[in-house]
Amino acid sequence: MSESLTHLSTELIHHSYEPPGGFGAVPPGVFKASTVIFPNVAALRARDWRYKNGYTYGLHGTPTTFTLEERLATMEGGRFCALAPSGLAAIATVNVALLRSGDEVLLPDNVYGPSREMARTLLADWGVTHRLYDPMDAAALAAMIGPRTKLVWLEAPGSITMEFPDLSALVRAARERGVLTALDNTWGAGVAFRAFELGEGLGVDLCMHALTKYPSGGADLLMGSVVTRDEKLHHQLLLAHMRLGTGVAANDAEFLLRSLPTLELRYRAHDASARQVAAWLKRQPAVRHVLHPALPGSPGHEHWASLCRDAAGLFSIILDPALPGARVDAFVDALRLFKLGYSWAGPVSLVVPYDLKAMRGDAARYDGHLVRFSIGLEAPADLIADLDQALRRLG
Ligand SMILES: *Cc1c(COP(=O)(O)O)cnc(C)c1O
Repeated sequence: MSESLTHLSTELIHHSYEPPGGFGAVPPGVFKASTVIFPNVAALRARDWRYKNGYTYGLHGTPTTFTLEERLATMEGGRFCALAPSGLAAIATVNVALLRSGDEVLLPDNVYGPSREMARTLLADWGVTHRLYDPMDAAALAAMIGPRTKLVWLEAPGSITMEFPDLSALVRAARERGVLTALDNTWGAGVAFRAFELGEGLGVDLCMHALTKYPSGGADLLMGSVVTRDEKLHHQLLLAHMRLGTGVAANDAEFLLRSLPTLELRYRAHDASARQVAAWLKRQPAVRHVLHPALPGSPGHEHWASLCRDAAGLFSIILDPALPGARVDAFVDALRLFKLGYSWAGPVSLVVPYDLKAMRGDAARYDGHLVRFSIGLEAPADLIADLDQALRRLG
């Protein structure tokens, strides 16, 4: 160490050793920072955090988060990406960026529950109103759009009940009326379809993801993203992100960078297993309906078929309404490989019974007990054997 520094703590902090340059490895480096060090005052004054031409503060980006953002933009076929610490935080970023007091936002009936809850509580308190639309009726959406409507959220398929909408028709209805669209594309994960290319030059304006699901694949981290092709919209998102202070942790970004190369392989493996399990369930007498967009007869199957080849490993079943609720609970409790828990897209298969009537205004469409499954990476034959033994509890 230089002779002028004689105190141990200072020497340990300002050490002169630099490792040799030219290190090459498959994974990108992981950079952690709150403070970013500027070489001089001119550099400190010249850098603008909105452009990826330099670093200003850890919250606004590091080489690690910039790298992840670029790969996520590629995953979705977009140009710009903003990260958030969870899928729900990504939804909040979009809402804060685009909605002001007096505006209205439209949500599909089958929207991810916490997104509706955000509209019902936080957005309402801030003077933003919301209405729910039937995602299977584009003409009804078109008729609902008024002068205060600023944003239409989309989901394909919808949460829990899995109806697959005619996305192009919904986007066209909004676009013709000059209203922005934001798709929660967690299910598609950038693999099932191209949200920015829905045909006839049509695409969504914003594509949001819960990276918590397939992009992570490990059931071990929470993160969200919003991708767009529009630079102006991206800057609006970045302003919201900066004002909210919702940064992501470097270790989580590193996990995602490690998982993304296997995203497509994993997605297809989950899909193939889920279709086998869903097809088996469809043949069981206690099962009234299997809500899986790739199965003929499932709501919106034709829209799925015209847009996608792949599907996520997520589906629901409707059990005979004559069954007592306690029997259905006993069936779920009897499952051994399927674990009882929220979220999906990890290696372990999951199950959750939902009380549709308590959750949804349109529950009358589905008469019966709804149970949702997320198919993991176990062998499908073992999952089917597990379901077979548990279904006997239904009597
Ligand atoms: C899980 C999920 C989210 C929220 O993601 P979190 O990271 O858990 O906040 C949003 N939308 C959909 C469709 C989801 O499944």
